[in-house]
Amino acid sequence: MTTTPAFTAWIEPQAAAAWPFLTPQHLEDLSRLEAGLTQALSTTHGTPGERFLAVRRELAPLAPVRTGGPAAVAAVMALAGFICGWHDLNLRDTVGPGHGRMILHHATPALRATWTKRLGAGDLVGIAATERHGGSRLTEITTRLFPDGNGWRLSGEKCWVSRLQEAASFVVFAKDPTGRIQAAVVPADGEGVTRHPETPSGLGGWAWGTLALNDVHVPAEHILTTPGGDGERIFRQHFAAFRPLVAAIALGTAAGVHSQVRSTLHARTATRLLPRVRDTALVTLGRTQGEIHAGLLAAVTAARLTAQHSPHADMWARSVKVHGVETAHRAVQDLAPLVGASGFRADSPISKARTDLGGLLYADGIHDALLRSVGRTLLNT
Ligand SMILES: Cc1cc2nc3c(=O)[nH]c(=O)nc-3n(C[C@H](O)[C@H](O)[C@H](O)COP(=O)(O)OP(=O)(O)OC[C@H]3O[C@@H](n4cnc5c(N)ncnc54)[C@H](O)[C@@H]3O)c2cc1C
Repeated sequence: MTTTPAFTAWIEPQAAAAWPFLTPQHLEDLSRLEAGLTQALSTTHGTPGERFLAVRRELAPLAPVRTGGPAAVAAVMALAGFICGWHDLNLRDTVGPGHGRMILHHATPALRATWTKRLGAGDLVGIAATERHGGSRLTEITTRLFPDGNGWRLSGEKCWVSRLQEAASFVVFAKDPTGRIQAAVVPADGEGVTRHPETPSGLGGWAWGTLALNDVHVPAEHILTTPGGDGERIFRQHFAAFRPLVAAIALGTAAGVHSQVRSTLHARTATRLLPRVRDTALVTLGRTQGEIHAGLLAAVTAARLTAQHSPHADMWARSVKVHGVETAHRAVQDLAPLVGASGFRADSPISKARTDLGGLLYADGIHDALLRSVGRTLLNT
């Protein structure tokens, strides 16, 4: 039997008031997506990476229908992310183009057509930006592109790269001889590409580690372009869309823990294991419920601002990523003790959610750097 707990408890009750532009079709798509997700999770096997990639491929035909204009689609995708996060933060890449969005928006028509098909069939794209000197300073990257006939040669090393083994290609950020940052699409199995996995403490669903690039051939048409800009602008535009999704997914994970704690407390009182739920526990349940909902409202708004090309989108995306992930992380810290030591078992989903959310404090933008740039934007306007 398939169920839709995240949709039924967290999205459907307030959808009409919070997101009046969502049509019955959008809501049906979200519910169908969650039903498909629970089904796929119960039937896929293998290593976590193989399993999540298989879920992504199974869900590809269930992707929400792209109707109602870009802002409505962005909202639906953020809500789809929330649903995935409710089940497991590692499902963050199971719907939508993910980092493949950069290819869909900035590639030549031929490459875009190829990747529209591949992403639609469930292929995954990774991003390789971070280097040893620090991911918060993109402009200082040392990976280089050298001209080579009708294309380029690429050399350098990227670290802490997620989806390392599962991605079919990476968008790699590198500097050309003029010092401009470029974004190059590089196949994961290309000659000169080597992957060295590391063991993460959380977010173990996808492989993670170093991507070494040794004199890799990059055809000219595999360099992404954007009018009036370069790779740095592509990076910024992409993360203005991606960060609200990260926030929505993180909040979904916190909502999953909230639902679990709530049903555990229910069961304990129903069986008289607990004579009554203490006020402090009730307060934590109430406060985190409000915080998760408020965070989700902000994440969906940020996603819509990006889709509407709002000049405020980039700033919203940065602050919403920080707010959403920190809210989710704190909520899980506060909720976990309410179920007692059972939530501390290594195989407990609550303990896993806690460690997984820890990874998002770094991935997709470290928080002090993001907030600092929000502050700078505020003073410059
Ligand atoms: C789970 C996970 C998944 C990830 N996935 C990817 C991925 O797919 N692709 C990818 O490219 N990267 C990925 N990353 C890397 C991530 O983007 C970086 O961790 C992040 O950008 C921060 O970079 P850093 O860790 O190198 O920290 P740093 O940039 O070194 O920052 C560390 C601290 O130093 C501070 N700092 C920076 N400059 C200064 C200064 N001048 N003085 C004092 N303090 C300073 C920062 O603000 C921060 O507090 C991932 C990381 C994790 C944990």
